[in-house]
Parts: sequence; C-alpha cells; structure tokens
Amino acid sequence: MGFTATVLTLMPEMFPGTLGHSLAGEALAKGAWSLQVKDIRDHGRGKHRAVDDTPAGGGPGMVIRADVLAEAIDAVVPADDQRPRFLLSPRGRVFDQALARELANGPGAVFVCGRFEGVDERVIEARGLTELSIGDYVLSGGEVAAQVVLDAIIRLLPGVMGGEGSDIEESHEDGLLEYPHYTRPRDFEGRGIPEVLTSGNHASIARWRRAEAEMLTKARRPDLHARKFPPKG
Ligand code: SAH
Repeated sequence: MGFTATVLTLMPEMFPGTLGHSLAGEALAKGAWSLQVKDIRDHGRGKHRAVDDTPAGGGPGMVIRADVLAEAIDAVVPADDQRPRFLLSPRGRVFDQALARELANGPGAVFVCGRFEGVDERVIEARGLTELSIGDYVLSGGEVAAQVVLDAIIRLLPGVMGGEGSDIEESHEDGLLEYPHYTRPRDFEGRGIPEVLTSGNHASIARWRRAEAEMLTKARRPDLHARKFPPKG
C-alpha cells in the first residue's frame, strides 16, 4: 500500500484543492497516494451541528470542542493505526525537508486542521496529536498548511517525480540552498549565462554550482550555513 493521508477538517470542500493538480494530482489519480477527507462537522452537536464553543476563562473567538474532534478522529483513525497524527498549529515543530523525507518513507499520516482560535487542549493530549507548524505566522485555518506539508511529501514518493535524481539536488536536501539556474536564450536583455555552464566541462560545472550554493546560503541563510559548516573551536 502507498502513502495514505487522512485529513480532518471543517472545510472538506477545500480538498484535494491544490493537491488535485499537476504532479500531486496525477499521482493521486494513478494511486501513488490516497486521500481520505473527514468532515469534523459530522460529529457536531445539536440541530446546527455545532463544533465549537466559547473559550473557558473568556477571551476572543471560539474553540473546537474536544469531544466533537475526538469522535471525528475515532471515526476514521483505528486505535491500532500506526501513522503519525498531526495537528496543524503555529505552536508546533516547524516542518522541514527532513521530516518530509521521513514521512514519505512511512505509511502515511493523519492531519487535523484547526479553525477559529484552535482546538481544546485535552483532545491534543488524549489522541496523541503532534503539533506541526509550517512557519512563524498565523493562518486562518490548517487546510492550506496540510496541503503544504502533503505537497512536500508527495513529490518525494516513489514514481511521482519524473526526472531521476531531480529531487536530490534541491534546496534544503543537503543543508544548502540551490545554485542558480539558466536556460535559453543565451542572451536575455544583455545578460549572458555564466561561461562555465556552456563549457561542457562537467567537473568545473559541478565545482561552480557547489561554490554558488555555499555563497548563496551564507548570504541568505547564515543559520543554515552555520549548521552545515559549524565554526571550529
Ligand atoms: N490561536 C492560535 C492560532 C489559531 S489559527 C494560536 O495563537 O496558536 C487557526 C488554525 O490555523 C490553527 O488551529 C491551525 O490549525 C492553523 N494554523 C495557523 N497558523 C498555522 C501555521 N503557522 N502552521 C500550521 N497551521 C497553522
């Protein structure tokens, strides 16, 4: 069995969304991964299927109820499901390429998308959800975040990306940002292509690319550069 994503959301119509197009969409159509979408509102309370309520202790906004969300999770995630379970959340571990690789090598994952102020803390603990962030900013809901995470995973699944090895030279794969790319035309508004790239000398090209990648990383992301080349002493 391939990678199976289960998404719990109050906005099921947002899926597959971007994941229904291009590489991810083609991979979905050919069965390289599968998607199960669960509407949390199926387990809402009362005539209006309420899923949220006011925060205990007061304050702005609404909070998704623990009991409603737990029932929704239990309806689609069996107790013995081995897949990791994530709650998309700005408080979480920041998603990165290493985690994308790790998840792509596994059976799949469960993604709970928050809305409003978030979810009752007790369901996070009771259902063993790991909070996962896509960066230090606040979105209005977890759906876009879940699609970001899934997009990064899906392109790494076997048979999804066309070009052999086209995924191993990317930015972040070896702790560096990628070198610059050029293609036709040879002259663009007076700007040429670095001569080494048209030399046909593969060793020089590889050396040039490596040097560019290191320079770019040092200039733009000193944090990544320091991790890759730890200062001695
Ligand atoms: N009150 C919360 C933010 C709620 S935003 C707080 O301050 O932590 C509403 C929902 O959007 C969240 O429940 C989460 O599912 C999603 N979300 C917002 N920002 C996100 C981010 N950076 N990464 C992943 N999910 C995010």
